Amino acid sequence: MECPNDHILLSSGLKGEEKSYIFRPRFNYSKCTKCSLCRDNCTENAIVMFKEGYPFLMPTLCSGCKTCQLACPSKAIEEDRKEIGLTYVTPVNNNLTLVTGVLKEGEERSYPLVLNTKRRADIMDFDLEIYDTSAGTGNHVAAALEDSEFALVVTEPTPLGIHDMKMIMHLLEKLNIKGYVILNRADLVNDEHIIPDYEIIGSIPLSDDIVQSYVRGKPVVDAFPESDASVELRRIMERVSELLW
Ligand code: SF4
Ligand code: SF4
Repeated sequence: MECPNDHILLSSGLKGEEKSYIFRPRFNYSKCTKCSLCRDNCTENAIVMFKEGYPFLMPTLCSGCKTCQLACPSKAIEEDRKEIGLTYVTPVNNNLTLVTGVLKEGEERSYPLVLNTKRRADIMDFDLEIYDTSAGTGNHVAAALEDSEFALVVTEPTPLGIHDMKMIMHLLEKLNIKGYVILNRADLVNDEHIIPDYEIIGSIPLSDDIVQSYVRGKPVVDAFPESDASVELRRIMERVSELLW
């Protein structure tokens, strides 16, 4: 979302642009009774009330959750919207369509854009949806993972990679989603004991062929189909197919 790059790796470009919006409250002061319920129910503290008692929005703090509108007993909060980014639907080939969300520059909240992007993918009714999430464990990652059958956690066998992997595994546990680990640049490991006891379903080697395929803007399995990395990626795909069906 912050800087999606699948379309670069697939050389597909981005097509089918649509603007993406979130809710923004607009106060109708002629209906407002100054009861302060909107402010009290806003967990982001995005509503302040001045001396004369009318609510006022701090736009950068608002997440667009609509709680204030639901809480207002006087229907004094009307619907406004703010553009937060763009979504795209790009046909890559007969079997693959790429649905991408791109956050607007300077916009901090990727969570609603993840939801909008997922919605756009959902209405297309694909046989299989694969979500490539951002790194980390923020609510935008949790939103992407939600309702998944399982997750593939791709990490490097370094102390930093293992630290992040443990965090994402913890999040998956909370979401009740089974996580499988794929080690990228697996040859980096010099002490196997640093890898916790998770189910590892693939080990992609450190490979110049992968770097060269990036440079060509082609997946390594197309650019160098016989390379060790491609052989391992095909093996991982078979394993993933077994998990799915
Ligand atoms: S939409 Fe949500 S975050 Fe924004 S002001 Fe209303 S309650 Fe607060
Ligand atoms: S909840 Fe509605 S009526 Fe109460 S202060 Fe907010 S906008 Fe005004």
